[in-house]
Amino acid sequence: MDKIVLASGNQGKLNEFAHLFEQYHIRIVAQGELGVQDVPETGTTFVENAIIKARHAAKITGLPALSDDSGLVVDALGGAPGIYSSRYSETTPGADDATDSGNIDTLLEALSDVAAPQRTAHFMCVLVFMRHHADPTPIICQGQWHGQIATQRAGEQGFGYDPVFYCPTLNKHAAECEKSEKSTVSHRAQALALLIKEMESLLGR
Ligand code: IMP
Repeated sequence: MDKIVLASGNQGKLNEFAHLFEQYHIRIVAQGELGVQDVPETGTTFVENAIIKARHAAKITGLPALSDDSGLVVDALGGAPGIYSSRYSETTPGADDATDSGNIDTLLEALSDVAAPQRTAHFMCVLVFMRHHADPTPIICQGQWHGQIATQRAGEQGFGYDPVFYCPTLNKHAAECEKSEKSTVSHRAQALALLIKEMESLLGR
């Protein structure tokens, strides 16, 4: 195995995965480079959507595929925005296309009557690796980053919901963390560490 297709067009994810797999002499190629279009994410869970994306990329390219599905899970909202995290504000009547800032406004509004102790939440990341499109035993790894939704934004780093995600162990908002600090605790970092461990035999370690 010297090439894996990444079932995502996100440049940040591509860089992160490419960097990690470089040491195993494996090239991560974005699906767009191989002519793969996004597939509709028709699942109702992170796991289903990650499998749908990896299977689609593997089927079209004939390569092993890796996918990533992530989002924010808020306890007081029954797990919302969950798999709809990137387009949460589109649920507001008359809303334009979702933006990170609009999504945060929608979240703060939804939690406006919720007191601090009940504002618990976690970021979730599911990574799926499929050796081929009909792989009956995909490698599935999950990472969670627990915290609370603050009432106000803080910090300029990161993306998505980072400005309102307060991490009690670091005593700061995710958007106040340097990239290197976030990558030691984040949901994606934890899922990635598990994935590398699970893939050890495939990677020849
Ligand atoms: P996707 O996996 O690229 O579809 O991203 C899902 C959405 O979840 C993003 O658009 C963000 O809104 C949110 N999200 C996922 N991971 C993070 C994170 O590390 N910080 C902030 N928001 C995140």
